[in-house]
Amino acid sequence: MVNHNMTGPDRHRIRDILDRSLRLQTLNMSEVSSLLALSDRDLWDEVFHAARRVKEKVYGRRIVLFAPLYLSNECSNDCLYCGFRTGNSDARRKTLSAAEAVEEAALLAGRGYRRLLLVAGEHPKRAGIDYIEKTVGAIYRETDIRILHVNAAPMSVEDFRRLRASGVGVYQCFQETYHLPSYRSYHRHGAKADYDGRLHAMDRAIEGGFEDVGMGVLLGLYDWRWDVAALIAHCRRLIGKYGFGPHTLSVPRLQPAPGARADLERYRVTGEDLKKIVAIYRLSLPYVGVVISTREPAGLRDELLALGASQISAGSKTSPRGYLNDGDTEQFEIGDSRSLEEVIGKIAGLGMIPSLCTACYREGRSGARFRELAEEAVIGNFCHENAILSLTEYVRECANPEVREQLKRLLNEEVAKSRNGLAEKIQRIESGTRDVHI
Ligand code: SAM
Ligand code: SF4
Repeated sequence: MVNHNMTGPDRHRIRDILDRSLRLQTLNMSEVSSLLALSDRDLWDEVFHAARRVKEKVYGRRIVLFAPLYLSNECSNDCLYCGFRTGNSDARRKTLSAAEAVEEAALLAGRGYRRLLLVAGEHPKRAGIDYIEKTVGAIYRETDIRILHVNAAPMSVEDFRRLRASGVGVYQCFQETYHLPSYRSYHRHGAKADYDGRLHAMDRAIEGGFEDVGMGVLLGLYDWRWDVAALIAHCRRLIGKYGFGPHTLSVPRLQPAPGARADLERYRVTGEDLKKIVAIYRLSLPYVGVVISTREPAGLRDELLALGASQISAGSKTSPRGYLNDGDTEQFEIGDSRSLEEVIGKIAGLGMIPSLCTACYREGRSGARFRELAEEAVIGNFCHENAILSLTEYVRECANPEVREQLKRLLNEEVAKSRNGLAEKIQRIESGTRDVHI
């Protein structure tokens, strides 16, 4: 698919490709291949610059923050790279009760989070759809969390319908690797050994009512250029079939994990590679949100924000009960242990606007409506103002004195630049109204 031996594509071709991305057009596979084959350092700087401009054109300067909440580390699969695999006999296993999940979610809400990603191993009996549905309902009823997304094993269309009806925003699932021989070698047992079943998970989710799906490959299982091209081809297939592609793409990079048996070196993805991958996703599918997790070290995450990422997790734990105490067996090691507050301060310091917004889901601006607004390049206006409003609520309710002063300065500058009407909304938040958004 990708020709590694070709001499780098010429300057004109790359600039034409960047120009198409800057006009917010989806790239074709030949253009994606040219970006993947690029080696010229100066041209890469142009690519990075274009990726940032495309991100700002679509989403403005806002960066959305969230945290994962691990519901269960019980799993019937044996993915060789994961700490939750059945083969990890030392693992301390745990599935949170709905009450424990509520307790963790409430703790996170108290820190300022409004959006969580629920994560679970594949255990149809303990962590199947009945359990997830009940837990989602309890978190919405009993905490200030306003939107829940889910990363869990693929389901039947019927179960996806129930998941969607429970109020979940995005269903996320990674193909891990599209390279069939590699996929088979990492997934020898359990339901996940069914490559085709996983490949069609997004079709079933969409049929079950999810217009917003999140996709990705686990970088480091196979040649990243090959897998990135295959993932983009998969997205293009969905666009061709349904008229829309994924809502988000994630860039999970293989990390050391307790009891794992994956070779971390053979297909190692460097920090420099990861920057290229984020930029290529951003340019190939301009409307897609690009999500960075705390798998990555702090310095690299800050750089990735400038290259087209639009969402970032912060203050994460990767084990059930990880927020309440030390937790049970974690899935993999965390690279960035900064708190939500520290990451918010850093984003503001980089000239971007930290956002805890969940407005689009509450206003029905998801799926087709979201894409229409993104295509008209007006979603950025909503995002910008809602970022300011959500940050105002954060400053009022959660921020400690140090970061509060920094954020107040940022908010004052942004409100002074904004259109009329925002100041009135800010006033309402200051006097205690919550969840003010447009
Ligand atoms: N069990 C479900 C599944 O496998 O799809 C969902 C949850 S699983 C915990 C979420 C993702 O974690 C997996 O899709 C995989 O890409 C990622 N993951 C697993 N082990 C990892 C590791 N050692 N380093 C980084 N990411 C990992
Ligand atoms: Fe289970 Fe998912 Fe880990 Fe595989 S990646 S062992 S399915 S939790």
